[in-house]
Amino acid sequence: MNDINSSDPEIAEAIRNELKREEEGVELIPSENNVSKAVLQAMGSVFTNKYSEGYPKKRYYGGQEFVDVMEEIAIERAGKLFGAEHVNVQPYSGSPANQAVFFALLNVGDKFMGLNLTSGGHLTHGSPVNFSGKIYKCVSYDVEKETELLDMDKIKKQAISEKPKMIISGLTAYPRKIEFKAFQEICEEVDAYHMADISHIAGLVAGGAHESPFPFTDIITTTTHKSLRGPRGAIIMCKEEDRLHDKYHPELKMKDGSAKKLSQLIDSAVFPGLQGGPHDHVNAAKAVAFGEALEPSFKEYANQIVKNAKAMADSLMEEGIKLVTNGTDNHLILIDLRPSRLTGQGKLVQNALDEAGITTNKNTVPYEPASPFNPSGIRLGTPAITTRGMKESEMKVIAQGIAKVIKAPEDKAVIEKVHSDILELTKQFPLYPGMEILK
Ligand SMILES: *Cc1c(COP(=O)(O)O)cnc(C)c1O
Repeated sequence: MNDINSSDPEIAEAIRNELKREEEGVELIPSENNVSKAVLQAMGSVFTNKYSEGYPKKRYYGGQEFVDVMEEIAIERAGKLFGAEHVNVQPYSGSPANQAVFFALLNVGDKFMGLNLTSGGHLTHGSPVNFSGKIYKCVSYDVEKETELLDMDKIKKQAISEKPKMIISGLTAYPRKIEFKAFQEICEEVDAYHMADISHIAGLVAGGAHESPFPFTDIITTTTHKSLRGPRGAIIMCKEEDRLHDKYHPELKMKDGSAKKLSQLIDSAVFPGLQGGPHDHVNAAKAVAFGEALEPSFKEYANQIVKNAKAMADSLMEEGIKLVTNGTDNHLILIDLRPSRLTGQGKLVQNALDEAGITTNKNTVPYEPASPFNPSGIRLGTPAITTRGMKESEMKVIAQGIAKVIKAPEDKAVIEKVHSDILELTKQFPLYPGMEILK
């Protein structure tokens, strides 16, 4: 921080304050994490200076000898980590990665299926305010009202009657396992592509704590910055061959007359279809993160994320807090505030928890009776606090603090007491010990 401290004290101060916030608070947003110093260093490297449109050994600019080495390592490591036949590491983030898959496989107006946003799907899975819902025809599937679970038989019936060209499996706020194999079987029955968007659970999949969509799924997209613990960005992985070439893209041929491969459709949708130059500094950091995820300790990390989520869920329920689906199988927990007489008060609770040093986000619950701006849920997750080394006993302390705040979200004394407990706790689990910017 020496240079930025003197050249730009305002931004330096904002960075220092953010580090202090992260060190002192308990980070429970399930899509966030704390990357290693090595990942931070790769992101802050001179690769940010380079332009490298194209792919390794097929670039449009000179001076690519080291970019190519880096990108090939990133591709190889991701392939090993997820068992992928083909990997594209260039997508700038999760939304552009998903956009590239739509762009590669669907035509404007084509029909696809995705999980309803209010029940835990992502904006890019067909929300009417997103490109996916505006440019393509989305038919949402939903969780069951009673159980709040996905019913694969119902989704199958819906797919048979709707005949979508693609089905997206994946979640942002669904606390249970996704049955990727069942999704693939449905897709094969109705001649649809299957895109598994594992953005949230990529770390669990890489660490063996959740079933992997490969080897059977057509396409996987994932962000790299959530449970996978890399830089902000995304990758797309797919099978080489296009199972549905003759049905949907018979005209797409190579120069020698052979069918265009799925991997080629994806690569050309990313570049030159949607993006220009890749962010080489971020891709270098992705490579570092994939290397870390290939270490045996990452398996332990992934399993501890799930153990911690289960422990936190159990403690919350012991305190009388209602959870969507009454628990969790993955890294996330969705609190249903309605039985706590806080319908539509997610924002109030989020703010009260913020004041207590606990960072969460308000979220809709399935069949949300209020609005997305003032929803009736709070979403929690354990990837970041597990990175800090916290275990089941710390989950209990945090859950008790959350329960106290939910029971008295406007009681300043309660909030203050919880905040001092949280400060006490986080002091014992330094995030970036000895980081220079603390001085
Ligand atoms: C986070 C997320 C995305 C989008 O990622 P961004 O990097 O925020 O664009 C897409 N799909 C799912 C399932 C996600 O959880």
